[in-house]
Amino acid sequence: MQADSQMSFSIDHGITVQSFGSSSSGNAFLVTSGAQVVMVDCGIGIRTIQRGLKERGLSLNDVQALCITHEHSDHICTLPKVLREDLCVVATQGTASRSIGRHPNRMIVKAFTPVTLGEITIWPLKVSHDAAEPTGFMFEFKDGSRATILTDLGVYTDDLTPYLQASDFIILEANYDEHMLRTGPYPRYLQERVRSNRGHLANTACGEALTKVLSGDNREPVIRLAHLSEHNNVNWLAEQTVNEALTRIDLELDVRALPRKEIFDTWESHRSVNEGGFLPASSPIRNGQLALEM
Ligand SMILES: [Zn+2]
Ligand SMILES: [Zn+2]
Repeated sequence: MQADSQMSFSIDHGITVQSFGSSSSGNAFLVTSGAQVVMVDCGIGIRTIQRGLKERGLSLNDVQALCITHEHSDHICTLPKVLREDLCVVATQGTASRSIGRHPNRMIVKAFTPVTLGEITIWPLKVSHDAAEPTGFMFEFKDGSRATILTDLGVYTDDLTPYLQASDFIILEANYDEHMLRTGPYPRYLQERVRSNRGHLANTACGEALTKVLSGDNREPVIRLAHLSEHNNVNWLAEQTVNEALTRIDLELDVRALPRKEIFDTWESHRSVNEGGFLPASSPIRNGQLALEM
């Protein structure tokens, strides 16, 4: 794979995930594993992306792959400035056809079918949203840690549960507070679009999803709330709503809402032991062999 051949194996960036900004007006995340540098979405200004990379000693040319969740502008608006011929772009067929077209180094993926990219296994996760073929992603690293990024989902679906249960780090949408949406500036039709099963996840729905995922489980993942609405949410309220839900199942976790337009703290895996591969019951892959699908 071209992305592999261009890696510099001399620099170890660690196993990390970082938000460069997340809200209803723009999203971009950085994922690293060893020498690999992967971005998820590029829906924020190029200068912020460049600044975030620079703070990590990186530049745009060091980004080897871009995973695109879907074609809405708050996820791809900076694509023309980020795209290079040799940049490996990971997307579903539906997303690719509405974003990168026939880009020469594209990797078309299918929901719930993993692909390997260097030392990272990427699981595209199907979400319910008003785009062509939207996904979130779970990243599985060589130390056995996993990080999931899920934004833009109108409803939480149970087929996401095994992936969140397996994750050490979870970025999950908490888009709106119901009262703020009802009494805020959005016209009725827009409110209905946001609330619909193909819209966005409310703070309460985010909290409910996490309690469903984590009740009876020993894991204590780090939680970051993402894609907050500019008009219908505030960070403290999203955090409070999710924390209240988690308290009901006696869980006290590290829950923070991601800043809308600022580069946020980096999550880093501190695992020392690989606890083994992740294969949900429904996986078509056998014997721990993860397939590369182009
Ligand atoms: Zn969207
Ligand atoms: Zn979005």
